[in-house]
Parts: sequence; structure tokens; C-alpha cells
Amino acid sequence: MEEKKDYRAELFYEPKNGYDRLSSEEAGKLEGYCEGYKAYLNVARTEREAVNEAIALAEREGFVEYAPGMSLSAGDKVWFSNRGKALMLAVIGKKSAAEGLVIAAAHVDSPRLDLKQVPLYEDTEMAFFKTHYYGGIKKYQWTSIPLELHGVVVKKDGEVVDVVIGRDKDDPQLVVNDLLPHLAADQMKKTLSEAIPGENLNILIGSVPYDDEGSDRVKLAVMSILNSRYGITEEDFISAELYAVPGFDVRDIGLDRSLIGGYGHDDRVCAYAELRAIFDVEEPERTCVCILADKEETGSDGVSGMKSQAFEWFVSRLCEQQGVSLVDCFAKSMCVSADVTAAFDPNWPEVSEKRNAAKINYGVGLNKFTGSRGKAGTSDAPAELVAYMRRILDENGVQWQMCELGKVDQGGGGTVAMYMANRNIDTIDAGVPVLSMHAPFEVVSKYDCYMTYKTMLAAYSAK
Ligand code: MN
Ligand code: MN
Repeated sequence: MEEKKDYRAELFYEPKNGYDRLSSEEAGKLEGYCEGYKAYLNVARTEREAVNEAIALAEREGFVEYAPGMSLSAGDKVWFSNRGKALMLAVIGKKSAAEGLVIAAAHVDSPRLDLKQVPLYEDTEMAFFKTHYYGGIKKYQWTSIPLELHGVVVKKDGEVVDVVIGRDKDDPQLVVNDLLPHLAADQMKKTLSEAIPGENLNILIGSVPYDDEGSDRVKLAVMSILNSRYGITEEDFISAELYAVPGFDVRDIGLDRSLIGGYGHDDRVCAYAELRAIFDVEEPERTCVCILADKEETGSDGVSGMKSQAFEWFVSRLCEQQGVSLVDCFAKSMCVSADVTAAFDPNWPEVSEKRNAAKINYGVGLNKFTGSRGKAGTSDAPAELVAYMRRILDENGVQWQMCELGKVDQGGGGTVAMYMANRNIDTIDAGVPVLSMHAPFEVVSKYDCYMTYKTMLAAYSAK
């Protein structure tokens, strides 16, 4: 009997629950790490806030702002902000850039409700903001929940006004109303995607009329509050980026406090893992680059998305200094596309294939491929790179699991991986499994968060 059991352990791939392996020393580190992450997530509610907070953390860790022409040598630590909406950090390695970079790429934008450019109106003596949702949301989840407004208004003279409404405990919050069940007979017959039309995602922002005899008195009263608080007029919305995001605090979930609930785990949970890893890496062999990208949720296009040449601009500056061509550097580089994956949810077993689904508390999820319907839209990491990851993760005591996002033909998803791989960079997806992904309140396991940090650190530290 004994012999047969060993034989099974030797031959079978059998992932295990991380808590069956966690030492008390590691458990302490895990808690400390997750407290840091919770604090980050609480303030990083937009891509701009995620970038600003990352810069503040990086400067505390000795990173300095990169300036073109700056002379860099091994051990130097720099950050470069792409228009305040995306961030790249680097720790210069001992080896030449000709040996390639170790890149980790996460994104810091999350699904939300964006204000339209002409958002403010009054109807039936209530004032509202019109929105256009950003990213893949289930619209019904965004009604009847507290919302905050975050973003910037850029005035015609270039002045940037930061807006945050509803974050402070004393500040008012906003809401999108839903229909009462008593009168929802027709609505309840509709599909979930049709029951809340996109043009009904209007945010209630006020109800007291301005004290005069004119028209649009509630709209005027709300505009006067905005004017006194931020010095803006209605036309200034034209050049604003204002986002309504869920007004929930980040909280421990579960009686055992093993999970974290919050808005925007996708993908700030991996962004934070990369950040902590690049802060903690010591004298790396190869130059380490950490990317916090914008616009992933809408396809990675635009100047701050991962398809942007801003990445080439930054890396070519690092390369030129060492007399290395960018294409040679890319050819030898590797990238961990650090993005979340779907965790198996026993309430919805029918959408996953259990043998290949990520499980909560089983560690970082590696995805060889993403995409959908015959692997369309994936870079599909080379087997050689997957083997390399298995090796370095095992050598560094990182618990990992191989996974796939959903059953074949059930749907799918993408990350920035293919945009990195298309640049001739070996790329693999790795990240935290998430429950209720893209919902206003997503859930992750602390154990998996910590293992994702250890994954990034193992990649950066590899010889
Ligand atoms: Mn993502
Ligand atoms: Mn996403």
C-alpha cells in the first residue's frame, strides 16, 4: 500500500490547498503584505490615483523620476509616468539590456461609469449625470449602490482640478436608481443585459432648486455647488475625465478573514504585487521593469494603453544608453502579464471545467493561454516559458496552479499578454483568481495575493 501511494505522488499533478503548506512565518508575512495591499486599493480607485499612489510608494523605496539622458547604472531605480495615467518603473540590472529585460505588466484601470462630456441635466426637478460605462460590466450590478466620483477636470487654461466626491466619511455619495419591484413587472421579464439600458445609468446628484424664477433650477443649484467646490463651469465637463466608482471600503471577508472584498482588484491586485516585488528585488541580474498600464478594460488602445509606443519610448531610452538596439533587447526579454483570472465558483460550476479552473487558496494562477472560441485572441505562452515558470516558482517556494478562464465556448477574456508577445517578448499570464470579477465588489484570497507577489519577485530575482 505504502509503495503505491508514493508512486501516485510521484506521477500525478495534484495541486493542494495553500493553507496545508503555509508556515507560521509565511502566514505573518502574508498578513503584512495584504494589509499593505488593502491600504493601496482603498486609495487607488482610478488609474490616475493608482499611478499617484504607486509613485509615492516608489519614492519611499528610493526610486527617482526618470529624465531622458539620465545616466543609469546597475542598481539604479527609476519611475516614469506616462501622462499620469500609466506608470513604468525600472531597476537597472547587472547585465546589459542586450540580455533582455524581466517585465511584469499589470493594468490599473477597472470597470466603472464614466461621465459623458455633456453630463449634467435636470428632469422632474432632480439633477443627474449621464454616463457611458467603461469596460465589461453587468449593468444591473451598478444600480442601488453607493457611488463616488473621482477624476480630473482640465480647464481651458490647462489647470488640472482633481475631483473626489464621496470618499470621505462626511462627504455625500451618489447613486443610480433602479425600479421598485412593485412596478417592475415588464423589467423582470427582460434579460439581465436588457433590464437596465445603458442610457438609464444616470447618476442622481441633487434635488434642491436654486432660489430664483428661471428654468433648470436644480441643475443650477448643483452647478453652483460644483463651482464653489472646484471652480468649474458646465463647459469644463467637456475636457474632464470623471468616473463614478463604487463607494465601498476595502474589507476583510469571511469569519476567518481569509479573503479581501473591494472595488478594482482587477487588476490593482497584480499591480500591487509587481510594485512590492520591484521594491524588494535585490541587485537583479537582468533589468527589471514594472508596468502599470491603462485602458486594458477597453482593449489596451490609446496613448496610455499597452499597445502605446510609450513603452518603446521608455525601453529604447534605457537601451540607447547601453548601446543596445531595442529589437535585440525585446528578443531576449520575458514578460509576466500580471492579470487576474476567474476563480472557480461553486455557485456557478457549469461555466468552468473543474480540472483546469483556478481555485481560491491554491496560489497564483498561471494561464498558458486566454482568449475564446478556439483560443482566438491569445498569445499562448510557449511551453518552454511555462516550464521556466514552473522551475523558478518551485525553486522559490511559490504555490502556483495552472488554469483556464472558463469552459471551452463559454466565453473568455484577454489581457495585455498578446500585445507584449507581439513585440517579440516571451510572455505568460499569471495572476490572482477573483470571485465576482468586474462586479462593484470583487473578492480575492489573501493567500493568492501573497503568492502572486512571490511570483513577481521570483521572476525579477531569477539569475
Ligand atoms: Mn484584468
Ligand atoms: Mn478585467
